[in-house]
Amino acid sequence: MASDLYLGIDVGSTASKCVIVDAQGAIVGRGLYAAGAGTAGPRACVDEAVAQVGGLASAEDVACSCATGYGRHLESWTELQKSELSCHARGAAELFGGVRTVIDIGGQDAKVLSLGKDGSLASFVMNDKCAAGTGRFLDVMAGVFGCKVADLSGLDRESTEVAPISSTCTVFAESEVISKLASGIAIPNIVAGVHESVVERTYGLAKRAGIVPDVAMTGGVALNAALRERLERRIGFPIVTCDDAQYVGAYGAALFALAADC
Ligand code: ADP
Repeated sequence: MASDLYLGIDVGSTASKCVIVDAQGAIVGRGLYAAGAGTAGPRACVDEAVAQVGGLASAEDVACSCATGYGRHLESWTELQKSELSCHARGAAELFGGVRTVIDIGGQDAKVLSLGKDGSLASFVMNDKCAAGTGRFLDVMAGVFGCKVADLSGLDRESTEVAPISSTCTVFAESEVISKLASGIAIPNIVAGVHESVVERTYGLAKRAGIVPDVAMTGGVALNAALRERLERRIGFPIVTCDDAQYVGAYGAALFALAADC
């Protein structure tokens, strides 16, 4: 039993993330697999994280573990299970000192969390009813453009103007993008329009939550720098993030495991 290691796993709708921390809460291993609940993704991300930690043979050898995310109930081997809201708030408060608003856009939903001055979760608003404004919307559009979702940011940076997308529904927006492509509009300008559409949805959510600085962004969509910058301009505040943005829920779960020391 490695008594000084703690594991968090975030079983998302589209990706599984695992973080292992030491007794000081420093990240010593991380794993990500682009498949979520009900797939081999959770096991694969745990194996990847475990392999990075010298002397750790298996996930069962950590002192305490905590599962979060959409599919957390399937991970019965963990000692703890916590909601993704609590874990994102916990992870973001630790990574971004002084953060009061956390915008978390994942594969299937978008949330805006309001944190108290002490970093605790005070309230939240959420869109989990519609793919528009989520990673799914961007995944679908990347499929239409024939690129990876990670390429959208670079394409947006090549845009010279925004080709606006008027449909809010993902299915109709997809048809609109296809007809814009067919009419010869340059891909970067359509990508800019797709990003503006997500920004508008996110801004609406954030306004409902109340935007108090500092503002941080977590979840996979935070990795899209061009979209993040458009969102900064829309909300009028800088948005902090980090390379570990997609791991914030798993990191928060690992910190809960550390605090519980079960
Ligand atoms: P969930 O927890 O719901 O599975 P994540 O927070 O892991 O969601 O985010 C998944 C989403 O992040 C994907 O749907 C995709 O749109 C986006 N994403 C993942 N990797 C990247 C990347 N490198 N650049 C831009 N977007 C990304």
